[in-house]
Amino acid sequence: MTSLDRPVQFLKGVGPRRAESLQRIGILTARDLLYHVPRRYDDASTITPVALAEVGMDVTVAGEVRSKGIVPTRSGLRIFQAVIKDDSGLITCAWPGQPWVERLLREGDRILVTGKVKFFHGRQIQPREHTILSRAGGDSPPTPSGTIFATYPAAEDLPQWILRRLFVLNLDSLIGQVARDEYLTPPERQALNLIELSAALRDLHRPPSLDRVDAARRRLAWDELFLLQLMQARVRHQATLERPGIAFVRTNELIRALHDSLPFRLTAAQARVLRDITADMTSPRRMNRLLQGDVGCGKTVVALFAMLLAVEGGFQAALMAPTEILAEQHAGAIRALLGGLPVGVEVLRGSVTGRRRDEARARVAGGEARLVVGSHALIQEGVEFEALGLVVVDEQHRFGVRQRMALAERDPRPDTLLMSATPIPRSLAMTLHGELDLSIIDELPPGRRPVATRAATPGQRGKVLGEVCRHLDRGRQAYLVYPAIEESERADLLAAEAEFERLGAEELAGRTLALLHGRMPADEKDRIMRDFQAGRIEVLVATTVVEVGIDVPNATVMVVENAERFGLSQLHQLRGRVGRGVEGGLCVAITGEPESERVAAFVRTTDGFEIASEDLRIRGQGDFFGAEQHGHSTELRFADLFKHEDLIRPARERARALIDVDPRLADPANAPVRAHLDRRYGERAKLFGVG
Ligand code: ADP
Ligand code: MG
Repeated sequence: MTSLDRPVQFLKGVGPRRAESLQRIGILTARDLLYHVPRRYDDASTITPVALAEVGMDVTVAGEVRSKGIVPTRSGLRIFQAVIKDDSGLITCAWPGQPWVERLLREGDRILVTGKVKFFHGRQIQPREHTILSRAGGDSPPTPSGTIFATYPAAEDLPQWILRRLFVLNLDSLIGQVARDEYLTPPERQALNLIELSAALRDLHRPPSLDRVDAARRRLAWDELFLLQLMQARVRHQATLERPGIAFVRTNELIRALHDSLPFRLTAAQARVLRDITADMTSPRRMNRLLQGDVGCGKTVVALFAMLLAVEGGFQAALMAPTEILAEQHAGAIRALLGGLPVGVEVLRGSVTGRRRDEARARVAGGEARLVVGSHALIQEGVEFEALGLVVVDEQHRFGVRQRMALAERDPRPDTLLMSATPIPRSLAMTLHGELDLSIIDELPPGRRPVATRAATPGQRGKVLGEVCRHLDRGRQAYLVYPAIEESERADLLAAEAEFERLGAEELAGRTLALLHGRMPADEKDRIMRDFQAGRIEVLVATTVVEVGIDVPNATVMVVENAERFGLSQLHQLRGRVGRGVEGGLCVAITGEPESERVAAFVRTTDGFEIASEDLRIRGQGDFFGAEQHGHSTELRFADLFKHEDLIRPARERARALIDVDPRLADPANAPVRAHLDRRYGERAKLFGVG
């Protein structure tokens, strides 16, 4: 324990009462104070003398509060006003509707104020922000040196100037002790363009310039990313090495036959990904790989090659899909691709019971079935395999962690391939799923026509529906997608139920319509999907349940209502439903906000990875990092997946290399890293063993 671990009471300027206030905002130790991140910085080097502050300018001024008071107005609005003085003169600052600022400022305080200069009985500044630089009277802190002032998340009983004062009094001595926390050597830091940890923490609080704040944040971002990757590398080590995996022996018999009979050539991306998978599967280390690729990029055939490799090696392979229809569709595609190859394919269906179910299960348990396809029926009790060697999970994010792992918990442990058609940027995937290896298919088979995409306003709905009808007249089918099921949910949203009724009576009278939404019983949904697939339904009026849909190549047009309500990636998934046929599809996004960033990006590009990157930018990474929902990720306070993208891969590679050599971080040389992990992850760091 270093003195950085000592409770805050031992800091200068902290008595029992202040210690309590600090504890309330989560600052328990001296180190916690060091990691209390400023929420903004004021650059006093751009301070304007008050005499030069002209109406219309946006200024930062610094001066002493000479007088203050609350001015009532006739409208009842109370305005706090303070007159401040600097070397050039006097100016009034006014806080309309914020009389409580009165209590925060004293005459004689030196303050920094940022805001617009307005004209109101003379010039006055209406501050957006204000900062007390030094306090009037006896308890005045020394004025912070330098020209950049950090402003902290404060609290009612812990005002800004107190926090600043704590840093003025303690920062130097605390920084002196940070050296012991450093775990990077100078050459390592240099290779990554990182500053020392102690310099980073110092500059975070007392930066000589704003650039130095960036350098400080970069170093602290590295720590976050690296520690997160260490946790994930540890999980990966346990998942792939600590129990025996299978080194599949490749005979090439089936694989060559499939290659020869394929009606197309694999794209370069498919071939590359297949090489990753083959390398994993033929090594004794267990495969735990995530395969990402846009809708239609051809993941199924890649999965089939992997499954055949397992079969050649004498094992069975299972493919799990989120719905029964999808499972059947996969089985159909697989049978078609296999042609006459002698490989037993079995579909396990949750809807099949009794003797037929028992017979199907017997074929799996007996080994007659080599490829087993199903939905959750695969992980039900009573399903036994003769020799399960590979598990493929399609649309992996539709399953919980436990469900995904259910098939993997046997000896020897089957290899796993998780697939997802919802691309996320590589940087995000590597950060969220550090414990997985990542393969990406970033190329569509040749000859695909992108879905023509347009935005339309609600006023143009009639015309759009006319276009839908022209598709229907040619024997095609359509999806109409709504954000809500019932009208009562949100007054401003169109609801599938009501629109289904209305359209059937009006614009689409005489057409065969069906309603499909998530609250319908599963077997009814199934029936409607099948009818749509068989062409017995022309128009499917649906909610986003069609997002993970089936392939209906004859469906060529989709209309999404209230498009501004959907996430960008979700819109893209939806659009994937009409890109399945030879004919180019059409997707129209109806929205009152056609200019919105999301809708604009959706119309601009059909590239799933570009969409993913825009989605991340628009939503912000916070949306993806729920506290515990991803196992080991935790909120990232410094790391920015765009700004620090170049740190992500090295963080992952170093973490993995370290864990491969010292899986429990037991080597004394790794003690500083281990200490960081314990502090950051607490209980969860126990997966390295009790330190
Ligand atoms: P997804 O990645 O969405 O699961 P699929 O595996 O369903 O994509 O493939 C979509 C379609 O593209 C299928 O009909 C498949 O047979 C076909 N396909 C896959 N790979 C290729 C390729 N290299 N060239 C041409 N067509 C391909
Ligand atoms: Mg698929």
